[in-house]
Amino acid sequence: MERTADFVNDRVETMIRRCREAGMNVTPQRIAIYRALVGSTEHPSPEMLFNSVSRTMPSLSLATIYKTLETLETIGLVREIPVTGDRKRFDAILEDHHHLICNVCGSVGDYHDESLDALPPRRRLGGFVPHAVSVNVFGVCVKCREAASH
Ligand SMILES: [Zn+2]
Ligand SMILES: [Zn+2]
Repeated sequence: MERTADFVNDRVETMIRRCREAGMNVTPQRIAIYRALVGSTEHPSPEMLFNSVSRTMPSLSLATIYKTLETLETIGLVREIPVTGDRKRFDAILEDHHHLICNVCGSVGDYHDESLDALPPRRRLGGFVPHAVSVNVFGVCVKCREAASH
């Protein structure tokens, strides 16, 4: 699934500004990688990003994608989703939301539920200061459930 062009352009502008504020070079590669990530609802792995971005940017390497994601993560523009399995998955949407993670095909979908957004009570956190809650719901996605029933 794709996000609207307006949404993506808006986010890319913010990304460029934040990179400059952090003193980072804003290279065409970095922009292309971020654009592909923020434009996708699939929470792509570096390999998935490589497959889509290298079509228009053949000189791009998988190593550059890993490095770029790491850099963008340090300035708070992307986050890694703690999925099980050997592939890392990334999200450029950092507003409160949760994830539905399929144990069969590894798909990661967004899940919005305000009842899960509440921060845990501080008295139970032993001095820990909570900023956000993100819940990962593991199970079987609709596609895999349908495939299994045939
Ligand atoms: Zn699935
Ligand atoms: Zn997400």
